[in-house]
Formats: sequence, C-alpha cells, structure tokens
Amino acid sequence: MTPPQTPPAARQIGVQWTHQDGERTTLTITLCHACSGHWFPPRDTCSTCASTDVEDITSHTRGSVYASTVVRIAPHGFQAPYVLAYVDISGVRLLAHSPSSDRALAPGTPVELTVAPVTDTPEGAVTSYVVTPLDDQHTTTGEQ
Ligand SMILES: [Zn+2]
Repeated sequence: MTPPQTPPAARQIGVQWTHQDGERTTLTITLCHACSGHWFPPRDTCSTCASTDVEDITSHTRGSVYASTVVRIAPHGFQAPYVLAYVDISGVRLLAHSPSSDRALAPGTPVELTVAPVTDTPEGAVTSYVVTPLDDQHTTTGEQ
C-alpha cells in the first residue's frame, strides 16, 4: 500500500502585498509624508529620508511598462520563452510576468495588474505578479 499523495502546495512570490477586489488587483505601497517617496514592498521607514512618518496606501490597478524582455534561457522550474516587464504603478516599480510568450512590451505600454500562476513545478504552482497589456499595438518582437 502506497501512502496517500497530497497535492503540491502552491507557492506565492510577493503576492502577500496585493489585494483582490473582484477582478481588480492592487498593491499595498508605502507613502512617505516627509519626502513624498513611494515604496514597494511596504516598509516602516522611508528608504530615502529615514522618516517613520509613513502610511500604507493602495495602488492603482493599472500602470505602464518601463522596460521588458523575452527570457529565452529559463531558470529551473520555468519554461522559456516568457516575458518579464518592469512596470510603474502608483510611483513604484515592480517586476512582473506577461502572458505573451515571445513578444516583449514596448516602454509606455499601458498594463493591468493581476496575480496568477506563472509556472507549474513538481513542487506546486508558482503564483506572482502578471501584467496584461491593454493595447496590443505596444508589443515588440524583442529582437531589436
Ligand atoms: Zn521619505
């Protein structure tokens, strides 16, 4: 008799700082009242001016692409090609996956933030930030 199999546990990367409101996904970010700096992940002390006069606020659900690339050599557990993008949302920048597998996103592309599985491994699905372009005309081949 074999022992019962338990499904692998899902793993999450960074999603503890997100909130779901229906289909809307937002981030908890920190606003510094002393210097107006914005921080993500949230923190108790401003990393620019060291003020503790900070407040956690909720980000917008949409942002824009700062830079993007097609990953063609994947780390263990990921299958290439896939797209990563640095995205600016509410004054912070975060790294997110994009559902396109072979087309990088042009800088300035408007995107919507979600949280979704980004890969599935024998240890379980990995869930993280995913951005979906709101305008297909901003994708590039990543070959320039
Ligand atoms: Zn500050």
